[in-house]
Amino acid sequence: MHSPAPLKLVDIQGEVGIVDTGEYKHPILLHFLESVSVNDYVYVYLRFAIQRIQHHVNHKRRHPTISNLRTEIEKTLVGDEYTVLLTTGEHAAGLRENNIRFMLPPNLSFIYGPGCAACLTPLGYYRNVFQLAQKKSVILVTFNEVMNMPTPEGTLFSLRMAGADVRAVHSPYDVLRIAEWNRDKEIVLAAVGFDLMAAFVGATIKEAQNSGITNLSVFHSFQKRDVLLREFLKSSSKPIDGVVCSTREMAVYGVEEYNRIARELGYSFICAGTSPLEVLSAVSELVVRSGSQKPQLQFANECKCLRHGNTRIRNILNEVYTVSDTRWVTNKRVEKSKYTFREEFLNFDAQNRFLIEPDDLITMPGCQGRDIQLGLKLPNECPMFATRCKPSSPIGPAMISYDGLCNTWYHSSLKK
Ligand code: SF4
Repeated sequence: MHSPAPLKLVDIQGEVGIVDTGEYKHPILLHFLESVSVNDYVYVYLRFAIQRIQHHVNHKRRHPTISNLRTEIEKTLVGDEYTVLLTTGEHAAGLRENNIRFMLPPNLSFIYGPGCAACLTPLGYYRNVFQLAQKKSVILVTFNEVMNMPTPEGTLFSLRMAGADVRAVHSPYDVLRIAEWNRDKEIVLAAVGFDLMAAFVGATIKEAQNSGITNLSVFHSFQKRDVLLREFLKSSSKPIDGVVCSTREMAVYGVEEYNRIARELGYSFICAGTSPLEVLSAVSELVVRSGSQKPQLQFANECKCLRHGNTRIRNILNEVYTVSDTRWVTNKRVEKSKYTFREEFLNFDAQNRFLIEPDDLITMPGCQGRDIQLGLKLPNECPMFATRCKPSSPIGPAMISYDGLCNTWYHSSLKK
């Protein structure tokens, strides 16, 4: 799922806004904004506006050229090794454009983690979703990448071809209409994600509660991004000199939580957009200020409006969920890393409603996604990469998810 995009609001009707993408106009939900007017720019993700951008800037004009940035990085490093952690596949994809990665000095290297939500979710979750979709009474609603997730039994897409009622939506909010129009069916939304997805689903079930919709439940795997990033940094066996993180991570909690991680673990962070120039400018900024500043989080120009996160999103998370422990890919128990419905919303929990026995299968046989998530291997070191495992015939989630590193690697041929 793509990073939040800045779009211009051209109309507002109550809690619905209309944005202009340049190609077409489409409706978005304004629940999470305190004040907004026509002609404002807003960050939009999964059809929810998550932040108003005070002064929209033309990023392309504000950045120096790629060649200037490359020279600046080379001059500052003077042969020293420097390793940057990119926290999303979209940042890696940003560096692939025009083969920018290959123009950079060889002593600048990259690692990737902690992985996308779909990749961090164990295979057993997708098998449980598959079982739910086989029930005659159920309409299974999910997102495109879950539709294509391979399990030993097949994909949801193959199940749909065989006649099951499985539907893909663009936003969790779309499930409300499906539930209203199919009162004789049980609608189950299968959703994986981090904090933002949890908040959007939280807003959706609150709306369902207010509208008296009772035939809707959610089978979810929602993880706390900051906790897993902290775990990744703590368990990384490779030296990391700086971290580029994303708008999606800042949109909820803002600067506070990441500054705490930066101070406690001693890393410099920068939050940046995902276009090639934004990523390279962020890397250059990290390199140039390395050694001269205390570890903290900085914001690239395009992300400054995210400094304080979003109070309304945090309120929804607090109202709908509590946090519990889950297992990290190393099998270590990580405290308070997973969102769980509070008691008053348990009637929307599909696990409760359908008495689902959690399947504990971790991964498909032979998939090396775990080592890739831990930064121990690169995708092209997996023997199945680009041979048996491709986006058209994926074996692990990292080859399906837009944010998955194997997928990004396949499309970009980024190799080190
Ligand atoms: S290439 Fe495919 S099988 Fe190998 S680690 Fe990536 S997703 Fe798993």
